[in-house]
Amino acid sequence: MLKIAIDGPSGAGKSSLARAVAKKMGIVYVDTGAMYRTVGLYVAKKGVDPKDAEAVTALLPEISLEIKFENGEQHIYLCGEDVGDSIRTPEMSMYASAVSAIGAVRAFLLDTQRNLAKSNSVIMDGRDIGTVIFPDADVKIFLTASAEARAERRYKELCQKGIETTLEDVLADMRLRDKNDSEREIAPAVAADDAVIFDNSELSFDESISRCIEIIEDTLSKKGKTKKKKKKRSFYMFMHFLVARMFRFTMRIKAHGLENLPLEGGAVICPNHLSMWDVITVGAVTPRQIHFMAKAELFKIPVLSFFLRAMGAKGVDRKSSGTDAIKYLIGEASKGDLVGIFPQGTRRTGENPADTPLKNGAALVAYRAKVAMVPVCIVTKKMKYRFLRRKDIYIGKPIPYSELGFVNGGSEEYAAATEKVFAEVCRLGGFEKTKAASEE
Ligand code: C5P
Repeated sequence: MLKIAIDGPSGAGKSSLARAVAKKMGIVYVDTGAMYRTVGLYVAKKGVDPKDAEAVTALLPEISLEIKFENGEQHIYLCGEDVGDSIRTPEMSMYASAVSAIGAVRAFLLDTQRNLAKSNSVIMDGRDIGTVIFPDADVKIFLTASAEARAERRYKELCQKGIETTLEDVLADMRLRDKNDSEREIAPAVAADDAVIFDNSELSFDESISRCIEIIEDTLSKKGKTKKKKKKRSFYMFMHFLVARMFRFTMRIKAHGLENLPLEGGAVICPNHLSMWDVITVGAVTPRQIHFMAKAELFKIPVLSFFLRAMGAKGVDRKSSGTDAIKYLIGEASKGDLVGIFPQGTRRTGENPADTPLKNGAALVAYRAKVAMVPVCIVTKKMKYRFLRRKDIYIGKPIPYSELGFVNGGSEEYAAATEKVFAEVCRLGGFEKTKAASEE
């Protein structure tokens, strides 16, 4: 599991940046400021002074906080109710800042924050993530910008939300919060010694995203977390470059939605299955290697086996139970690689994918490796793979692990997750269940 900490002062754009990077990497974004804001909201509702440590501490046992991820967005339920945008007002910013200086409040939220990273790769933003919550984070970034640049951004954000205020007030609030946050005794908002300081005053949002991903990749490779793979991959990259180009050209393959493919981190790629060439067809359009399993017999077919090897596919012996293959895929996905599994389980040449039965393997691997699933649809005329017939490969947005509905695993959960992902595969290719099949 990857832990990426983004700390920094208010308004540096941590949350929008962390959210965008998490989406690109296919991992979970956790906004810890929202948790302090929610405690602030409760304190405000009770009419308690947020600076009165004793009174605030006495309220904590009454507070039930539940964090859920719905459509990739974090939702906080305070005593069963979604707090929504009610925590985003300037008043709640000040309440959050005041309660966050109380040790008991920080201790109250500590486990919640740590637990979220146990079952997910996360990018978490806050003030003390790299110093207190995850001193062992894989990457630590301290994001900052000048107070003026930050105030201007926050002001625009508040105006867009219809919250009335002035730029001067926002700047004054920000300076006050900076002072409170950085001078407080407990968990002050300071950069960890090993954090990369990133000042984005002069950068556009898109530039900030690219720079942030660069920092993450550099840090991981410096720590040797990607180095080994790189060596192994260089052969793949070389073969991929040559073979994939040739293959795409001669087989008339066109990719759509490549930007949806996670740049980093593990994921299960889930294409529909119409031909024994699918592994190569999908592999030929993706810049990252996908570990696919292919039947051992296929490696005996001369031309096919050459392409399969060039794409880094691995043979599975049909006679074995397939558990070794599944274990291998779980291992690769857990290490942060892409693995490919066909939810249909077997080739369905000429069939409407929306009408075919599904198998649970892909979801099982995603559950065990705690990674996202990526829908991919291969479309060709009549769904019959012919060499000179055009093939369109549609890559959909990754469905994060937190949205796959897993609680304790098990076949029902796997089946539901598979249905969800495959519905998206069909939507990408424009397939709908035919009447006869939906009436079944
Ligand atoms: O990030 P955001 O502005 O939503 O945070 C609200 C307040 O919560 C901050 O001003 C800060 O005082 C506090 N906070 C904190 N530690 C965190 C996250 C937020 O003290 N990890």
